[in-house]
Amino acid sequence: MKKLIQRIIGMGADFSTRKALKSTLGFVGMKPENIDKLYVELKNDYYKEQVRKIPPEEKIVFLPHCLRKSGCNAKVEKNVGYQCNGCENHRKCKIYAIKNEAEAKGYRVFVTPGGSMVLGIVNRLKPRAVIGVACMKEIVIALDNLKIPLQSIELSRDGCVNTDVKMSKVLDTL
Ligand code: SF4
Repeated sequence: MKKLIQRIIGMGADFSTRKALKSTLGFVGMKPENIDKLYVELKNDYYKEQVRKIPPEEKIVFLPHCLRKSGCNAKVEKNVGYQCNGCENHRKCKIYAIKNEAEAKGYRVFVTPGGSMVLGIVNRLKPRAVIGVACMKEIVIALDNLKIPLQSIELSRDGCVNTDVKMSKVLDTL
């Protein structure tokens, strides 16, 4: 099915937003619940090489605050999000691990409470591309609104707290 849809897109069908993709897929009979997942996969495939070629220094990594460990005492600052201080929970904290790995490669990393801060940071710092970890709902909003190359990684467990992500997926994308 994905190959067929890629062919349809290759023929000029619009997948710039979820809404546009949904109307494209109306005639191939795809169930609405599968459209978000497909939308994310198509965008990831489409942007993969472009994002890979851009140096880390010109890209931004966004992590969701819900990935913090309980007891996290990171302070949140206006317009830049949570400031991880490598607290006593850092050995179990994926934010700490991802942030260290990404910053060592040259990325700027932000831990944000939501999509509106992401949009603000992108508008202000103007990266050439973005790598983001988020729940499906936030990823779709970002894909609809950010007009730059983007790679997204869906949380493996979502919710408002104690979420999780597969480290291998994040490390492969960095
Ligand atoms: S390592 Fe950083 S983000 Fe993780 S719980 Fe501690 S202060 Fe919060």
